[in-house]
Amino acid sequence: MKILENIEKKIKMTPQRAAILKYLEGNTSHPSAEDIFESVRKKYPMISFTTVYNTLQTLKDLDRVRELNIDDERKRYDPNVNLHHHLICNNCKKIVDIFIDFPLDISEEEAQGYTISCRHVEFYGLCPKCRKTKNKGQGNRNRD
Ligand SMILES: [Zn+2]
Ligand SMILES: [Zn+2]
Repeated sequence: MKILENIEKKIKMTPQRAAILKYLEGNTSHPSAEDIFESVRKKYPMISFTTVYNTLQTLKDLDRVRELNIDDERKRYDPNVNLHHHLICNNCKKIVDIFIDFPLDISEEEAQGYTISCRHVEFYGLCPKCRKTKNKGQGNRNRD
């Protein structure tokens, strides 16, 4: 399901909301509400953070965005609601998608009576950019 598919029938469309949806469509950066607000505000200076936040909640309820509780500072939003996993940088909190099909099926016994609605694997580490900066820092320290 694409984020914009038949969305006019589901939510009342305003230019601000349309701008939020346009920003999210195909976005793979897993933005926070703050990121979306900063970007949309450039074109719509009157937009409020509440509008962004409420639109995200509505989209979440409609299953058009996935809310990620990966970053402990801010919730992040993913317009790709299809099954996929994430690679997370511990330093800059950059999140990238992984589309490997892991064998994630658990037995009924392991499910302990739960119905499973979401399966999600998180990998943590350092992104190439942060690795470079870290190595550089270490080099300087060694020289001192
Ligand atoms: Zn990083
Ligand atoms: Zn993702």
